[in-house]
Amino acid sequence: MASKITLLPDHVANQIAAGEVIQRPASVVKELLENAVDAQATQIQLVIKNAGKTLIQVIDNGEGMSNTDLRLAFERHATSKITLAEDLFALKTKGFRGEALASIAAISHVETHTRTTSEEVSHCLKIEGSTVVDQSLSTQPKGTSIAVKSLFYNIPARRNFLKSDQVELRHIIDEFHRVALAHPEIKFLFYNNGHELFELGATGLKKRIAAVFGSKWESQLVPVKEQTSLAIITGFAVKPEFSKKSRGQQFFFVNNRFIKSSFLHHAVSNAFEGLLRPGFQPGYFIYLTVDPQSIDINIHPTKTEVKFEEEQNLYAILRAAVKHSLGVFQVLPTLDFEKDASLEVPYAYKDKTPEPPPIAVDSNFNPFKNEHKSSIRPSVKDPQWEALYSGIKEANLSTIDTSEDSLLNLPESPKVFQLFSKYIVCPLKTHLLLIDQKRAHQRILYERFLSSITQKKGVSQSLLFPVVLELNPQQTEEFTHRVEALELLGFQFVLKDSNHLTITAAPEYCPASKAEELVEQLLINESEESSLEDFSPADRVAKTMAKNLAIKSGESLTAQEQQALIDDFFACKETAVSPFNRQIFITLEKTDIEQKLN
Ligand code: ADP
Ligand code: MG
Repeated sequence: MASKITLLPDHVANQIAAGEVIQRPASVVKELLENAVDAQATQIQLVIKNAGKTLIQVIDNGEGMSNTDLRLAFERHATSKITLAEDLFALKTKGFRGEALASIAAISHVETHTRTTSEEVSHCLKIEGSTVVDQSLSTQPKGTSIAVKSLFYNIPARRNFLKSDQVELRHIIDEFHRVALAHPEIKFLFYNNGHELFELGATGLKKRIAAVFGSKWESQLVPVKEQTSLAIITGFAVKPEFSKKSRGQQFFFVNNRFIKSSFLHHAVSNAFEGLLRPGFQPGYFIYLTVDPQSIDINIHPTKTEVKFEEEQNLYAILRAAVKHSLGVFQVLPTLDFEKDASLEVPYAYKDKTPEPPPIAVDSNFNPFKNEHKSSIRPSVKDPQWEALYSGIKEANLSTIDTSEDSLLNLPESPKVFQLFSKYIVCPLKTHLLLIDQKRAHQRILYERFLSSITQKKGVSQSLLFPVVLELNPQQTEEFTHRVEALELLGFQFVLKDSNHLTITAAPEYCPASKAEELVEQLLINESEESSLEDFSPADRVAKTMAKNLAIKSGESLTAQEQQALIDDFFACKETAVSPFNRQIFITLEKTDIEQKLN
């Protein structure tokens, strides 16, 4: 019988490998930038068109390749970076698998020019779908330029799977940030559709962070330094008062390679404990230098995960180093040896006096009184009360009796009250509604903001003191995509130059004091909030506004506020779930209670 097993042809094997290494244009950007860094370049240019879907080009002034090396570079498992298996345990370079270029060339059109110092001319190689289509001499300067065109041209499924240009561009910017932050000593230029997005001169780390995220960052960082036999730790932590709600400023680098590590993150978060306002994230740029033999970066094809030896010790060292920095730089109250009881309490609770847990009850409520003649009681004909019932109907609560008879026998203005500063309890004739105040309010605000935007009827209130925001290039980019929705909502802006934005007016329902924080939130890189990736800008803006402005759990509300919340809530188009898909209320049937008390 003839053998049924055959070896896959190279181009097929390359396509399969490409599936693992190259998921989207940003993966190509990462591989090309890393190759340029490995080639000892001191200047690297990134040029992209249409979020990398049409063109990704990286031009470096590094060591270049000889003609033979140029051909070999596109073969699978061709690498100049390791020769022995043992080398894997002493990696000093970013690359080592020797499959990036072969993978990229299998799924795109690649044109490379490269010249070493010793050569007079450069060599050019053109490959389309693993096939060499041209090889010639050219006259490029020393270094390498690789242009990747028509990515995924031969894998339509992949191409169709790509997200909008905006989203893909954000992924590219993320990769660019990671490489740029790992190598402040290298000059980087980044052009998108002919516009310069970043020009980062060679500098030190602090200046690089400021060049990437905005100059005000310089004053918001405290250095972190620690030297032990296990690891050298350097970098910066963001002072807790400047922390953000997003995870956008959390960077770990191990031996100058960006990595993700939930356990290192935990160590840093732990050091910040008690220093952050609820919902805020620690910010950090931490660089670990460890013996390459003590880590394994081989565990993931895209190489962002690392396994460490002595994890537990590293955890303790890192936590202590960050804690120390936050303390030394006066972020923590100074410790002295006279025992001060307030220091025993986490910082966030320090200024609070103990209070009994707040249970807001309506003191006017008398369960034995049959007739409430409360002046704020809406009449049965009040449209809000019809809405209350239609709201409940929409939520598919079929058990509710909405017959004429029951409407007329409405409980005397169902009195609402607050429970645990978290829920609004609304007793009805046959059951009880337990409404999550935060989610209900998010729903109300979301619908309001969304209709302001879509019906173009947002109401502005001018700010007495206009706020000036400094934007980094990425935020400026975000701004251009969101400005329309923001203005429809009621914000008004003056863009002074490409990185200074003045907020002159804020929407109704948005307190002036919150305007600045909100706009910052609204300009956050949305790929961090991947759950929001697929919605329109209007929807995203309405959600972010609702999330930030809604009353929180733990806030006690006056009787009027509770009632207003309930009325507004049942006037909503949708009452079952919050804009973030969380259930808003539960019902407790009278029969359930009777059964329990049987
Ligand atoms: P790896 O980086 O894992 O070695 P790649 O497929 O990314 O694999 O690259 C293959 C080889 O091509 C590298 O080992 C290197 O020798 C060479 N190479 C790639 N890009 C460049 C560049 N920009 N400058 C010089 N040499 C390069
Ligand atoms: Mg490589």
